[in-house]
Amino acid sequence: MTDAPSDLTTGDFTDEQKQYLQGFFAGATQRMPFVGHTGAGALTNDPTRADSNLAVATADVEPTVWGTPVSDLCAEEVWKYERNPLDCWDDLLRHAAMDSVPDAEFRYRFKSFGLFHVAPAQDSFMLRMRVPGGVLTSHQMRGLAKMAEQWGCGRIDLTTRANVQLRELQPRNIVDVLNTIQKLGMSSRGSGADNLRNFTASPISGFDAQELIDVQPFADALQNYMSNSRDMFGLPRKFNIAFDNGGSISVLADTNDIGFTAVRVASGRSVPEGVYFRVLLCGITGHKQFASDCGLLLLPDQLVAVAAAMVRVFAEHGDRTDRKKARLKYLIDRWGVPKFLEEVQKKLDFPVIHCDAAECEPRGPIDRAGHLGAHAQSQDGLHYMGITIPVGWLPTEQARALADVADRFSTGELRLTVWQNLLIPNIAAADLEAAKAAVREAGLEYEAGRVLSGTVACTGSRGCRFAMTDTKAHALEIARTLDTMFPIDSPVNLHVTGCPNSCAQHYIGDIGLMGVKVNGGEGYQVNLGGSADNDQGMARELFPAMPYAEVIPALQGVFAIYQQRHEASE
Ligand code: SF4
Repeated sequence: MTDAPSDLTTGDFTDEQKQYLQGFFAGATQRMPFVGHTGAGALTNDPTRADSNLAVATADVEPTVWGTPVSDLCAEEVWKYERNPLDCWDDLLRHAAMDSVPDAEFRYRFKSFGLFHVAPAQDSFMLRMRVPGGVLTSHQMRGLAKMAEQWGCGRIDLTTRANVQLRELQPRNIVDVLNTIQKLGMSSRGSGADNLRNFTASPISGFDAQELIDVQPFADALQNYMSNSRDMFGLPRKFNIAFDNGGSISVLADTNDIGFTAVRVASGRSVPEGVYFRVLLCGITGHKQFASDCGLLLLPDQLVAVAAAMVRVFAEHGDRTDRKKARLKYLIDRWGVPKFLEEVQKKLDFPVIHCDAAECEPRGPIDRAGHLGAHAQSQDGLHYMGITIPVGWLPTEQARALADVADRFSTGELRLTVWQNLLIPNIAAADLEAAKAAVREAGLEYEAGRVLSGTVACTGSRGCRFAMTDTKAHALEIARTLDTMFPIDSPVNLHVTGCPNSCAQHYIGDIGLMGVKVNGGEGYQVNLGGSADNDQGMARELFPAMPYAEVIPALQGVFAIYQQRHEASE
């Protein structure tokens, strides 16, 4: 029996936790059943699987997970088979009590709670939360700031899925952190490992003068559905879903496994006039693939059911033997779209509409700088203000200042964007100048038209073991240098990613940099000319591997040429 840690009675535990932990270490009967699971949970919907390993062993039949023999599963799938990763609260308590780092198996399991141990970059945990549609309240922002100061690095990181991360959390604090985010009305379940990632929605949905429909409720509804459906966890690989309102700001729906995009159908077409959704499938920009239209036309109230059906088909038929082939794209490459949709239809009790995209009106124009600066809302007299958060690093004092702005001049709401920025909605025209001044006073900018405003960077070598480069520091240096030398009148997106996993989606940047090693030092593959949505196109490689010291001079040359030769619309 493991010895109880000496500080159990004095640590940061509730009385209930202390009682449980003392029982656990003494081997008492109130010990919770974290030993002896039979894999119950996400995988038990498999009709071909026995409920217990013992029963299978006596029958001398090799168990399977959705038709794949257990002996063929990759290591992560075996762990999932042995026990649902959501059933690791005991282990979280145990590691918090001992202030210890779990082994590889439990590091994987903890990711289902959004906890990533980020060694060797840092000997600590990162917590990634869920912020459906990127909507945060000022109360939540202040709560996150407090947590970042109490247990983290004094900073909140904004991500490219309109989400937030806290960093440098010690093992002893992970349970307190998870308990506290629940008190804030937030969750981190499923934000890592092989799960549905944060659901994104057009960031000005609900007040976008150009939108066809408010899509924020769908992000919330799918979040609630997932939270209450155990089989929505434990997928073959991660899975991204976005909701696009058809309005003036992009949510990069075509970079998701499923992108639901609102469209209008005019009268006189094969379906009744109205607002529907097209369904885009299989976007993975790191693999140079945008999501493409699968031929479905959905009514708004069908979105959650269809999303769940698609996720279930993926769960049942995705590859669980080779993680490099486990994303939705590979299932559809193997099957083709028609078979995938046939399987999806079998899970629905209503017929989906198949309809050519040509029946729908084209998507409206996208304002690439619309998530920055002050803009009129669809509601008379109200404005939203987009604010630049350089590379998504938000120190806690600025987080509190923005929460104060949201309370003083708005309805206490903040919206995160996929560009690692945020915006504050519902500011009365009369308060706009005062709100701008308050943002400036906090040391932040709201104007578009700078490279820094359109810069996104992944975590990089300061917090990710895959990184070849210090992406955030380099992105800041590059953007600030270019902004000093080349005042620009149109938005330029700089995407800096630390490895081919492409968390910062370098292939869709006007300038896309991917970290590589050059003669053992830091360098970048330099790509130019990428974009998404209406201007969809993968960036083209300019230099395959350039030392970092040469990247800024090279980009200065690119900007000089751009300034001399570009047309107003380019
Ligand atoms: Fe880490 Fe690579 Fe993702 Fe950057 S792109 S955060 S280096 S995995």
